[in-house]
Amino acid sequence: MALQLSFEEKYKVIVLRDTTYAGLFYVAVKTTGIFCRPGCTARTPKAKNVLFYDTTHEAIINGYRPCKVCRPQEEVGATPAYIQQILDELEANPYQRLKDWDLRQRGVEPSQIRRWFKKHHNMTFQAYQRLYRINGAFTKISNGESITHTAYDIGFESLSGFNDSFKSTFDHAPSQEKGKSVIHLIRFTTPIGPMFAGATSSGVCLTEFTDRPMLETEFKDLKKRLNAVILPGENDHLKQLQAELAEYFAGQRKAFTVPLHTPGSAFSQSVWTLLQGIPYGTTRTYKEQAERLGKPKAIRAVGRANGLNKIAILIPCHRVLGSNGELVGYGGGMGRKKWLLDHEKQHS
Ligand SMILES: [Zn+2]
Repeated sequence: MALQLSFEEKYKVIVLRDTTYAGLFYVAVKTTGIFCRPGCTARTPKAKNVLFYDTTHEAIINGYRPCKVCRPQEEVGATPAYIQQILDELEANPYQRLKDWDLRQRGVEPSQIRRWFKKHHNMTFQAYQRLYRINGAFTKISNGESITHTAYDIGFESLSGFNDSFKSTFDHAPSQEKGKSVIHLIRFTTPIGPMFAGATSSGVCLTEFTDRPMLETEFKDLKKRLNAVILPGENDHLKQLQAELAEYFAGQRKAFTVPLHTPGSAFSQSVWTLLQGIPYGTTRTYKEQAERLGKPKAIRAVGRANGLNKIAILIPCHRVLGSNGELVGYGGGMGRKKWLLDHEKQHS
């Protein structure tokens, strides 16, 4: 899976601290004996002191120790076990409130969990728990359960407290909830970096790498198009998605069966459908895609619709190349596009 980048190109990735190459190669520093993944925030080493390896294994057998800052031997952005244990507990019982005291009882330092949530979900742990509870409430109310019962069921001591909390999350009261839908959002890791995935009750509507620059815009667009709110939580589609993606990354899955929910213009829809027809392990150019659509002159429009795809990997926009076969534009970063194409080639 060697990434064909020159020494200079790899060094540039290190200098720029580009996280989209994390997991694709490793940098070892001769003067310190330590190796890092690209994007590490530790000090930038001089070019004459660095060596590049494709795997952590190679770096280790050559005598380098993993950096304590970026922990290159762990999957990028992996959830530490002590936090996973808390997340599992919340999933089993979304309506309990874990306070600092409860966390310490479980051997977790509250400040650690605060920092982790801030970094990976950009919210406090309290806010995450509250959204998780509200998510449960939302589902109950949309299924026709009474607001009063729901408020008490999910652990609010008063109806007004519940109303206030609900309002601050959704910008309106729970009684006005009819017609809105929920996009459940999870974060998980892959060998080439952490991803967000979102799903409505109809299907998966988002899979993106968490460092994609356009992510905020994609969230906004989805909320608007689906008249929905985005809340942390999981549903059956997201469970199926994670299982299928794990098989894909292990080289054991070539097509996806999880239902998709892809709001967009009729033209975008036609481009995305066509993308899903590009066989695993093969590529096409934008020009070929435009021709297949019966619109040979719409090459740019096809490129734009590719860029609007919010379902990375499952709608394989990474399988489209420039007219000379060059790797062009990928929201998740070029390194990842190259990795995905190499991976599929290797397993087809
Ligand atoms: Zn490091």
